[in-house]
Amino acid sequence: MDAIVKKLPQKGLWMENVPIPEIGDDDVLIKTRKTSICGTDLHIYNWDSWAKKNLLLPTIIGHEFMGEIASLGRNVTHLKIGDRVSGEGHIVCGHCIPCRTEKRHLCLHTKGLGVQLPGCFAEYFSLPAQYVFPLPDRISDEVGAILDPFGNATHAALSFDLAGEDVLISGTGPIGIMAAAISRKAGARHVIATDINDYRLDLARKMGASATINVTRDKVADVMRELGLEDGFTVGLEMSGSEEGIKNLLETAQHGAKIALLGIIPSGIAIDWDLVIFKMLLIKGIYGREIFGTWYKMVHLLESGLDLEPVITHHLAASEFEKGFEILFSGRAGKVILDW
Ligand SMILES: [Zn+2]
Ligand SMILES: [Zn+2]
Repeated sequence: MDAIVKKLPQKGLWMENVPIPEIGDDDVLIKTRKTSICGTDLHIYNWDSWAKKNLLLPTIIGHEFMGEIASLGRNVTHLKIGDRVSGEGHIVCGHCIPCRTEKRHLCLHTKGLGVQLPGCFAEYFSLPAQYVFPLPDRISDEVGAILDPFGNATHAALSFDLAGEDVLISGTGPIGIMAAAISRKAGARHVIATDINDYRLDLARKMGASATINVTRDKVADVMRELGLEDGFTVGLEMSGSEEGIKNLLETAQHGAKIALLGIIPSGIAIDWDLVIFKMLLIKGIYGREIFGTWYKMVHLLESGLDLEPVITHHLAASEFEKGFEILFSGRAGKVILDW
């Protein structure tokens, strides 16, 4: 079968012919229909310091997918061949304290599909059956393929009560854009999104941001003052992973504001801790999704009318993956789907 493989410890990815994986008694074999390229995959493509630390080569990459069940392990009785599915790509240990206390997303030994485990950018891949998430008919294949990042956005945004709140989203990558849609749906008053990329700020506005700020041209505090928000936002979502993003959030937070951090901030950034302490801020780190609480929230948001289609900007054949990565590196894309 064809698979996108990180073969060599250098920049790039390679389409290779590899054997269809064997599955264990508790696993399913998934025939991939659509996958989506994540920022994580861009790190792997570039072979940056994070990728060097986390991958054992060669490995098949990819963790955002939908497909259908092609075969079942001997112990799997609750699924059937042909079921349309997506699934959770964070495979937990099952033995640590968080795992044993119903908080699997906090597992101390999580392994990631397409990072430490063979991924889904392949015609077929194996997944433990308990991580499979069957897709309701009303969810399209395309949207089914982006539930992983939608889950990041949902987990972050719904960490706090949003009804009637003023939300500042720093960073309008696909997850920030989806967080704007969720904040709007959840009843926020203002949903302000910031970035340095006009293409993505436009997408955020299309998806529900009430105001957008290009921080290369305008100051966040100025725009907030114009909107009557001189006292600051009450819920912040950091999705840029940039020094400026986190600093802007701390400076424009209202006293007692709640902030979720999802973007991976470069190490060694100094922040003004006085802002955290004297503004009495509540800060929460976000990684992955609650398993499976976030998944049901996502599906229910979609079934109650939240529309993710605008964030999907490109569809390509899997064989054109190089082009997909190029488009994403250019910044002129939301989510890029690969058809298998
Ligand atoms: Zn992802
Ligand atoms: Zn665990």
